[in-house]
Amino acid sequence: MTAASRLAIHGGPKAKTTPYGTGNRFAGNELKYLTDALEQNTLFYGTGKWVKRACEMMQEYLGLPYVVACTSGTAAVHLGVVAAGIGPGDEVIVTPNTDSGSAIGIIEEGAVPVFCDCEWSLQPSARTVAEKITDRTRAVVVVHLAGHPAPVDEILELCRPRGIAVIEDCAQSWGTRLHDKRVGTFSAAGCFSINDFKHISTGDGGFVALSDGDLYRRVHNYADKHYDRFFKTELLQAHHGMCYRMSELLGAVACAQLERVEQITSRQHDIGESLRQQLSGLGGARVLQPIAGGYATYWWTALFVEPEALTAGRDEIVKALQAEGLPLGSYGKYDLIEKPLFQKRHVRSWLSGPRAAYPFDQPDGRSYHYCVDQTPIHKKALETGMMVGMTTFWTDQDIAETAAGIRKVFQAYAR
Ligand SMILES: *Cc1c(COP(=O)(O)O)cnc(C)c1O
Repeated sequence: MTAASRLAIHGGPKAKTTPYGTGNRFAGNELKYLTDALEQNTLFYGTGKWVKRACEMMQEYLGLPYVVACTSGTAAVHLGVVAAGIGPGDEVIVTPNTDSGSAIGIIEEGAVPVFCDCEWSLQPSARTVAEKITDRTRAVVVVHLAGHPAPVDEILELCRPRGIAVIEDCAQSWGTRLHDKRVGTFSAAGCFSINDFKHISTGDGGFVALSDGDLYRRVHNYADKHYDRFFKTELLQAHHGMCYRMSELLGAVACAQLERVEQITSRQHDIGESLRQQLSGLGGARVLQPIAGGYATYWWTALFVEPEALTAGRDEIVKALQAEGLPLGSYGKYDLIEKPLFQKRHVRSWLSGPRAAYPFDQPDGRSYHYCVDQTPIHKKALETGMMVGMTTFWTDQDIAETAAGIRKVFQAYAR
């Protein structure tokens, strides 16, 4: 063993020799547009121009005729569920390796999330969705995870003839494409987040993209207390709705961020691809691969350890990688099923009786229980996965040192 190959966790030199690149995410036109928004003397989207402009930029970005701005990605998925016509008692299929925002809107509408497995791409597939279809299935929320596309085209082919709606959760997948088409444009509704942990940020916020004019009115009204504001107001409070309106301050920042979204996501693609190539042939672990025809924008990436090839377990290896100064963590928490909401089924624990577990307990006697054994690849991924977090500001040296550090650690633990 040479001095350089001695693991940092055992007192050797760290693989990462310099701090990772950083930068200002809001160094474009953010301040200028914010100032303009304040000078409008209104921060209300109905009278100001910035939220409208952000929606127009989204329409152009996606090539779709309608976009509704909202307060979060969770709100966006909820609105997508509303667009899909989901109601009480319906089953909606979704992968469990996602943010709770993918499921909250389903529950809010009184529908039941049914978890399907992911493939080793971490995405759902027509196969894993088909396994969970019943005569109650009304929709699928396809989560494009980690900037990778899910095979939403295959899932649509499966669902269309069965009258099952598809919506896309693109919160982590800005700029992601499948067969050269942007995700979010395949299905009834493309749902995006601009919270602070996504490719572009306004702190919080979201968008829903639609191609159908009637659904646009439904979603727009649901997001604005059913004011029917951009229409003829003949449907004023004609139906239920939420207040998911985006303020002009967020709209202004969103415009400045959207000006740079392509630059940010293409850099993220390059970083992820470069890291993936530099890790090719790595012994002891498999690197997450995009599906065929996929263009990934790598919000993060993942490695899956092969326990039989290693002398230590995943958690010990994660510690060794972190000691090298690398931004790796366990993937073991990337799961909804094991969370108390789904295990204890206390949806509204302050209520009593069957109302507390609604919609997991349905008035017709159906009762839904959740267990990771029902999603075997997901379960295995939780046991063996590790996540690599990267940012747009990584330099080529950062990529090279990260790959070298990962190789160093896996070599040290090779059986
Ligand atoms: C972040 C995220 C959401 C929710 O977005 P918020 O803006 O935090 O509400 C939904 N789905 C996925 C896959 C996410 O990563």
